[in-house]
Amino acid sequence: MPTLTRKKQSNPRASGRPAAELIFGDLWEFDPAPETADPKLKARYDLFINNKFVPPKSGKYFDSINPANEKKIAEIAYAQAADVDAAYAAAKKAYDTVWGKMPGKERAKYIYRIARLLQDRAREFAVAETIDGGKPIKESRDFDVPMAAAHFFYHAGWADKLDYVAPGRKVAPLGVVGQVIPWNFPLLMLAWKIAPAIAMGNCVVIKPAETTSITALKLGEIFQAAGLPPGVVNIVSGFGDTGAAIMTHPTAAKVAFTGSTEVGKIIMRSIAGTEKKMTMELGGKAANIVFDDAPIDQAVEGIVNGIFFNQGHVCCAGSRLLVHEPVAEAVLTKLKTRIKMLRIGDPLDKNTDIGAINSKEQLKTIQRLVAIGVKEGATMFQPKCDLPAKGYYFRPTVFSDVTMSHQIAREEIFGPVLSVLTFRTLDEAVEKANNTAYGLSAGVWTDKGSRILKMSTELKAGVVWANTYNKFDPTSPFGGYKESGFGREGGRQGLLDYCKLV
Ligand code: ADP
Repeated sequence: MPTLTRKKQSNPRASGRPAAELIFGDLWEFDPAPETADPKLKARYDLFINNKFVPPKSGKYFDSINPANEKKIAEIAYAQAADVDAAYAAAKKAYDTVWGKMPGKERAKYIYRIARLLQDRAREFAVAETIDGGKPIKESRDFDVPMAAAHFFYHAGWADKLDYVAPGRKVAPLGVVGQVIPWNFPLLMLAWKIAPAIAMGNCVVIKPAETTSITALKLGEIFQAAGLPPGVVNIVSGFGDTGAAIMTHPTAAKVAFTGSTEVGKIIMRSIAGTEKKMTMELGGKAANIVFDDAPIDQAVEGIVNGIFFNQGHVCCAGSRLLVHEPVAEAVLTKLKTRIKMLRIGDPLDKNTDIGAINSKEQLKTIQRLVAIGVKEGATMFQPKCDLPAKGYYFRPTVFSDVTMSHQIAREEIFGPVLSVLTFRTLDEAVEKANNTAYGLSAGVWTDKGSRILKMSTELKAGVVWANTYNKFDPTSPFGGYKESGFGREGGRQGLLDYCKLV
């Protein structure tokens, strides 16, 4: 347990704070509680092709930076077209000779082994994930890594039961699939993409995002330890051009992409007219809707989790709070008090709630959009807290007096920034929630079951959470409407996207 040290200078009366506002977060200081497990990082990470770590043919590497302190962590191989060709050749061979022919119950054994090996090294992977991406250790330890393992376990369970994926029909793998993932949940997105694909009997070429390649390449070590046949999964790191080479490669029978709507559109254009199947999981601007009969304290926790989880780098983040007018003031007051308690800083500290922004570029994007919010006349609230001198950090931010026409209410900010709007009737809430180009997720807070059912029918969002937010499970399909993409990941529906019906 961390010990608490009373801050000498902080006196509630002297600071003019109302007596009723009890904020331990700025009355007491936590002793540092850094996570100390060894992340076993290497100075250089090569490409993982055919179960071997191989240097890129061009000999080019790029630096991976720790966003919490701006220090270089390692060099990452920069794959180009020739490396992508080698990865596809390995995947095709593995598919034709081994994996595509192997009975599902045999494939399951490898996938179980991957899940268990990941559990064995969970703490090591959690620390590596936090150093690489900036997310709080309590999230990588309690969410990202266990959830990644859960996806492998779940899909291992399916591998010998594929006859039940499409009742009355037989399913068959597609062949080799190309996948590109973003930087917000590096290991978890990898598991989301790889586990269903290989459980179904496909082989994979996958690219992690350029700022977060380390845990992806570490997973290669686990594939080796699990004895996965060479070529079943190939991991090629690099930039957008590497991603484009993966998506457009003639060997890919299917491509799956998670990232921005902008890049998703580029990919769709580039493969239009080909036979490739596609899954696109793109941006979002979710409405988190609080009615006047909601349990307000729980809703405030859900609002905080909805927008500040992973620094708001979440495509399904509850970035628009729609609050019923009768409780708007009460919700906003409680929310501000709660935000003052959040601890921002070193992501490796077990007490940290909000870690580092993933990259300098992303920090600039957040700063730009927040400046627009101020300029457009929204009222900004940020708690007064110290930020570390080095690294990329941004204070949790709440904008009130926001209208639907404000850019901060329309554009995905992908940072710890909440826009608050109000509504008077259920119809108005639905209208406002659906008035967006996106449709990935939504949240509803109310005491009434009938209202939950009505809202979940009317909201054009792939996932609607009721009296909770950001809950994930491998059994539950996830995906979007409209510009948030198409195709589902997770559950039986996710498997359907990796097979053909025969
Ligand atoms: P984000 O907003 O999450 O940074 P991006 O869409 O820019 O999302 O990036 C998501 C992933 O897509 C990253 O792995 C990135 O390298 C890759 N990528 C970027 N441009 C392209 C492209 N033209 N084709 C394929 N992949 C790309």
